[in-house]
Amino acid sequence: MINLSSEIRFLKGVGEKRAKTLNNLGIDTVGALLRYYPRCYENFSDIKRIDECSFEEKICIKARIISPITEQYIRKNMTIFRFNVFDGSSAMTVTIFNNKYLANKLNEGSTYLFFGKITGTAYKPQMSSPEIREIENGGIRPVYPASFAVSSATIEKLMLNALLCEIPETLPQSIIENYGLCDLKFALKNIHFPYSSEALETAKKRLVFEELFVLQTGLMLLKGKRKIKTDCVISLDYTDEFLSLLPFDLTHAQTRAINECVFDMKSGYAMNRLIEGDVGSGKTAVATALMYITARNGLQSALMAPTEVLATQHYHTVSSMLYGTGINVCLLTGSTTKKQKAEIKEKIISKEFDIVIGTHAIITEDTVFNNLGLVITDEQHRFGVAQRYALSSKGNKPHTLVMSATPIPRTLGLIIYGDLDLSVIDEYPKGRQVIETYCVESSLHKRIYTFIKKHLDEGRQGYIVCPLVEENEEIPIKSAEEYFEELSGGEFKNYRLGLLHGKLKPKEKDKIMSDFAKGEIDLLISTTVIEVGIDVPNAAIMVIENAERFGLSQLHQLRGRIGRGQYKSTCILVSDSKGENTKRRLDVIKNNRDGFKIADEDLALRGPGDFLGNRQHGLPELKIADIFANRDTLKLCGMAAANVLENDPKLKKDENSLLRQEIIHLYKKLNEN
Ligand code: ADP
Ligand code: MG
Repeated sequence: MINLSSEIRFLKGVGEKRAKTLNNLGIDTVGALLRYYPRCYENFSDIKRIDECSFEEKICIKARIISPITEQYIRKNMTIFRFNVFDGSSAMTVTIFNNKYLANKLNEGSTYLFFGKITGTAYKPQMSSPEIREIENGGIRPVYPASFAVSSATIEKLMLNALLCEIPETLPQSIIENYGLCDLKFALKNIHFPYSSEALETAKKRLVFEELFVLQTGLMLLKGKRKIKTDCVISLDYTDEFLSLLPFDLTHAQTRAINECVFDMKSGYAMNRLIEGDVGSGKTAVATALMYITARNGLQSALMAPTEVLATQHYHTVSSMLYGTGINVCLLTGSTTKKQKAEIKEKIISKEFDIVIGTHAIITEDTVFNNLGLVITDEQHRFGVAQRYALSSKGNKPHTLVMSATPIPRTLGLIIYGDLDLSVIDEYPKGRQVIETYCVESSLHKRIYTFIKKHLDEGRQGYIVCPLVEENEEIPIKSAEEYFEELSGGEFKNYRLGLLHGKLKPKEKDKIMSDFAKGEIDLLISTTVIEVGIDVPNAAIMVIENAERFGLSQLHQLRGRIGRGQYKSTCILVSDSKGENTKRRLDVIKNNRDGFKIADEDLALRGPGDFLGNRQHGLPELKIADIFANRDTLKLCGMAAANVLENDPKLKKDENSLLRQEIIHLYKKLNEN
């Protein structure tokens, strides 16, 4: 008898070959198949006539194939199958792309259900890539994310077989009762074959709850379990010695963060900590302190940055802070030559270098360390959890520190970084200038230029940031390149201008950034490449063109590039957009300095849409829940998870054994890394 953990190849209807294609969809067991939820549903019970239906609306046609199925080879990986169907009212042409398997199964003369949009003309109606079903399979049908190798209809058939298995309940009974959830069997049956739309809602509610509950319980367990013993012990604290190297005093918040880290690193357990500090709060100095202390204790450190520009900047900052201390720092990035790389790697192994700074890919690749004690990732929101663990596997359970100016609302941050301990730097270095922010229309450009020049004449530097322009864009807006041409030949011909954009080679970018840092460029025209981390304290003015095109968190990050030194700084947001929403968004930036506040407002204004976008946030992949849309459920689940763990901290009790399995299953992918 097969059960949910049986391999998928043992399910009725699955042979070796199909098992492979299912594996490619991530389906390895019968249970995994049942958790392969429909992408959407289509109503095959509401059948329309071809001659009566409106175009561009998805409808269901019941029609007979009245021609042979022709196959047309277009190019590699592209074959079109075509045939005509007739439903008693009219004929239409159906096309299928690439799906040979489906085409082979259809028979001329047989009748099928076709679900899709009718296009073409009233005389020559067409339907492209419809969902096709045999007529006995009418009703509300699930539509699965299918591949060319296995169709949605096939998955549907297999699903029926899988649902015959016994389906044990995964959630503890108390949770089901307290939160009014349906049982798993009902939920799975109805998510695939909804009996009614209410039943579907009930099923969804339960599955969303379950997923978020498993996610959160898992994170809480992970956090508890992350107390891993390590030999990388920092025995002596050299913080005071480090302080004497600095030209400034650390803020209380910086000192506290360092102390919290040192405490972890002395404990005999591997540190696993997140430092959350807003833009400009001075995270680099904290990182340098910790790497210094680590080096003094005879261990190596690695510092990873998301971009080459940033890695290079860190390299310069760190090496100059540690100048004359005998601690050696090296830089590894994409533009390090092969020969240099080999040399540097030799010296890392032989321990001539104590601190390795670089871009993520380069450090993780094949660099071998000699007693790696500390791994730091900067601007972590760009990396995922799995990546974070990848580097940790390099050493012998090194301490890990993640630094982020998280533009994520706090509640969500806690979940996303739930497996980390948290230090917050909630204070800016002394003497930090408030950045004045203005929103203006582009008709004021003359005055803006005069204003910029006044600052440049006083010895300051500035940025003009332009949005990325897509090539086929309809609205004419200026790209950084065009803007640079225009200004350097006109308005700013007596100043030293630089141009920075993503298409430059890393070497060219670095050259421009370092010229700007050295003060050899007065005004930098740039795209958002400067968004992350760049630190030039003499820059006191920033103009952001077409500001409506940027996200709020992005504007905040950009603005964080100025106001970093002792000079009063100004940020000018230029926008001609008249939209009410744009105005409100720009006002949020104008009136707030706190990145967390801005993230919250951003979420409120944008709604639960794609706040995180496709950004890697390192959570296991969710199948049905949406952290934003379901954030109320998320809260409930957090409480529920805490409750369950309070009564059974390691989930060893019988009633929680299936829950435990689900957690292991969800996090399996992460553990593999
Ligand atoms: P972020 O947290 O955004 O990464 P950085 O580490 O780049 O910020 O620091 C921003 C700037 O503040 C740098 O120029 C740095 O030298 C300076 N800085 C950091 N800490 C202090 C401090 N305690 N006092 C004065 N300046 C500081
Ligand atoms: Mg930084």
